[in-house]
Amino acid sequence: MAIQNAARGNRVAYAETAFGDSALNDLKDLIARNTAWANKIKKQQPNFFSQLAEEQRPEYLWIGCSDSRVSTERILDLQPGEMFVHRNIANLVVHDDLSCTSVVQYAVEVLKVRHIIVCGHYGCGGVAAALNEQPLGLIDNWLRHIGDVARLHTDELSRLQGQPKVDRLCELNVIEQMNNLCASPSVLSAWESGSPLTIHGLIYQLDQGVLRQLTPSVSSLSERNT
Ligand SMILES: [Zn+2]
Repeated sequence: MAIQNAARGNRVAYAETAFGDSALNDLKDLIARNTAWANKIKKQQPNFFSQLAEEQRPEYLWIGCSDSRVSTERILDLQPGEMFVHRNIANLVVHDDLSCTSVVQYAVEVLKVRHIIVCGHYGCGGVAAALNEQPLGLIDNWLRHIGDVARLHTDELSRLQGQPKVDRLCELNVIEQMNNLCASPSVLSAWESGSPLTIHGLIYQLDQGVLRQLTPSVSSLSERNT
């Protein structure tokens, strides 16, 4: 215990040296917010965390953008345990992205979620950057996937300019990521085995705080092909 305390002390000392008082105060503020939040929940539901610690049984998998303004549980008014979440820049479902495909497999095969939601948002910085030809470094490799979506819809997008063009690509991107999801081995095998699983596509309007369904949901291979 003494060794653990000494190690903890060393870590705090290192944090103070490396990041300064300001960073430490920011962290203290976050920890204080967490403590207040946990105490509030425990007061309302004394067994909430102990029950949650035993297992998770979410019905939904959410694939959304990393954008800080699209905070999954917050905008859906959900509690911890209700949503399995994967977020990346511009809510992409890329077949050789081991992180996303592993999340989908675990959600479908182990957690047995009944719904997968792909959610984009208007004004997505990742989508806007993909339309802008300026090189940004490493992230260009990721943004190229959105460029591929834009190429699939060149005719429609060529008639638009500025923000309407970005926002339409945000919508088309959600639909194409739904298509990618519908072609993923985990989803196909769930459908083939008769497991109930529906893929949804939503878009979030930042300046209104509201979600809208973009296209009909898909619950089977035959619906995917229509
Ligand atoms: Zn975004």
